[in-house]
Amino acid sequence: MTGYRAPLRDMDFVLRHVVGIEELAGFEGWEHADPGVVMDLLAEAGRFASDIVAPLNQTGDIAGCVRHDDGSVATPAGFVAAYRAYVEAGWGTVPFDPAYGGGGFPWVVGVALLETLASANLALSVCLLLTQGAIDMLEAHGDDHLRATYLPKLITGEWTGTMCLTEPDAGSDLGAIRTRAIPQPDGTYKIFGTKIFISFGEHDLASNIVHLVLARIPDAPAGTRDISCFVVPKYVPAQDGSLGTRNDVTCVSIEHKVGINASPTCVLSFGDGDGATGFLVGDEHQGMRYMFTMMNQARLLVGVQALGAAERAYQQALTYAGDRVQGRAVNAPPGQGSMIVEHPDVRRMLLTMKSSIEAMRRLAYWNAAAIDRSRRHPDPGAREQADDLATLLTPLTKGWCTEVGTDVASLGIQVHGGVGYVEETGAAQYLRDARITSIYEGTNGIQAIDFVIRKLPLRGGTVVKDHLARMAAVDDDLAAAGVRFERTRAELRSALAALTEATVWLESAAGSPNDLLAAATPYLRLFATVTAGWLMARSALIAQAEADAGAGDSAFLDSKVVTALFFCEQLLPVARGLVPAVTAGAEPLFALGNAQLWD
Ligand SMILES: Cc1cc2nc3c(=O)[nH]c(=O)nc-3n(C[C@H](O)[C@H](O)[C@H](O)COP(=O)(O)OP(=O)(O)OC[C@H]3O[C@@H](n4cnc5c(N)ncnc54)[C@H](O)[C@@H]3O)c2cc1C
Repeated sequence: MTGYRAPLRDMDFVLRHVVGIEELAGFEGWEHADPGVVMDLLAEAGRFASDIVAPLNQTGDIAGCVRHDDGSVATPAGFVAAYRAYVEAGWGTVPFDPAYGGGGFPWVVGVALLETLASANLALSVCLLLTQGAIDMLEAHGDDHLRATYLPKLITGEWTGTMCLTEPDAGSDLGAIRTRAIPQPDGTYKIFGTKIFISFGEHDLASNIVHLVLARIPDAPAGTRDISCFVVPKYVPAQDGSLGTRNDVTCVSIEHKVGINASPTCVLSFGDGDGATGFLVGDEHQGMRYMFTMMNQARLLVGVQALGAAERAYQQALTYAGDRVQGRAVNAPPGQGSMIVEHPDVRRMLLTMKSSIEAMRRLAYWNAAAIDRSRRHPDPGAREQADDLATLLTPLTKGWCTEVGTDVASLGIQVHGGVGYVEETGAAQYLRDARITSIYEGTNGIQAIDFVIRKLPLRGGTVVKDHLARMAAVDDDLAAAGVRFERTRAELRSALAALTEATVWLESAAGSPNDLLAAATPYLRLFATVTAGWLMARSALIAQAEADAGAGDSAFLDSKVVTALFFCEQLLPVARGLVPAVTAGAEPLFALGNAQLWD
């Protein structure tokens, strides 16, 4: 397994030109977040990721986590020290409210930071992601007491957070949750039930674990609207804030998984004794609504995890392709072997990886910046528009980046040939680790359904229409940019026409739920690929303009243009082929009866 180097130059380009970091630094409270400061911070975080976290990736994968008979769970050797270093350096605090000890940076900076840590060690990043989610949840919905008790320690990372949703009979369908919360005279609740697949549900990295648990208060009617959310700490804090009594929550077992082996995935039992003490978050019966605050941000971060895995897989594949000598490339001197990077087919794989990664980074960071604008833009109208955009983009970032990130990690193995399939090289780990990102935080099928059922009709369909218009507007700039951009312009026009055709079809199918559901996955892929193509085309235009003006490193800027044009001219066209799958409706999917699926 090769080392990791944070892709700071592309991050800088995206922050300046896609995110508009200078505009964000103009918003109240973010004045210190100017591009120079942000890049210095990310450079330091990149060093931390490379030197402290990345070396534990493969050893952690091999060793995995161990559950002891007393229910405690040990993470692999080195993780406790690395996590302590993370807490001491204050990396967890970066995007949070200074009132609770946060660094007060825009959220997109935290997203870039998470990307580096996910590249370095996807398994460890699960813990960081979930703690961020718990902080978001308590910031948005916790009362003053919960915020004062938990936020400072979660923000420093002294304590970590979990998200306890899934149960044996409640996975995608959280309405089936059975965990019970019994109200107590002192205003607390006693929690009884079993949660499965809980990431970092038990571990040795932090002194306390703050579980956010979905549970049902007795007599609440069935369905998701009647689920409530509770803070259930492993240790109930004492009045003075110190660790108090051990709560009635036990790790019963941990899973043996395909990947992220250093992330303990726990079965947690709440209330084997008197009941686990829980504290209600916000109001009763609002748990699902609140949990979506946490899930939306977590979903974006899962897309970023896949981006991180893809970036690491690319760096390793690129290193290998420059070392491995095999065959003779066309035009190579006779009698001499060539590095495989000289073969067109290997170059195709590498460029597919590189351009996909850059597209993912642009989509994810733009999504995060929309969240930042929705919170801090001084104009309420702009805040509302940004909120709509973030709502639209989040399932795209989750659904598309995780699919593409997994494909990229798979290509990373292919570049290695046979040794890619051998664990020692580490190439396979990126694929095994990345594979979970399409499943957790709502499977990609559920993201796609959310996209067609809730996001497409947002504000009477105008949010989607505005986005289509925004993408179409780049056409004039591409036309003006000259012959180098002609093919990209043509491909983007065709892709947009295909997306518009599919969108019109979906609008006309609004009364046929099964047709909408059947179209969901290919439509999300089409929508996201076109959006990514548009972001890449804009990047290419900006890089070309900078190069023409003699601003910046010309080789780097040329790399941005060529990579973006490759995406638009060679990967984007595939998206058009998704239209028939979108517009076929559900009928072909049910043309075979269940028994015939065995024939
Ligand atoms: C390593 C790991 C870590 C996890 N961490 C956590 C965690 O920290 N906290 C937590 O609460 N959960 C966690 N999970 C659980 C995870 O979120 C669920 O596995 C996921 O939401 C899917 O639920 P399920 O496994 O029950 O699959 P199911 O819901 O049974 O789905 C099976 C398949 O059917 C599809 N499907 C289901 N319903 C529909 C529908 N209505 N329409 C179309 N397709 C449908 C799904 O897309 C999927 O392809 C984790 C899981 C794993 C494996």
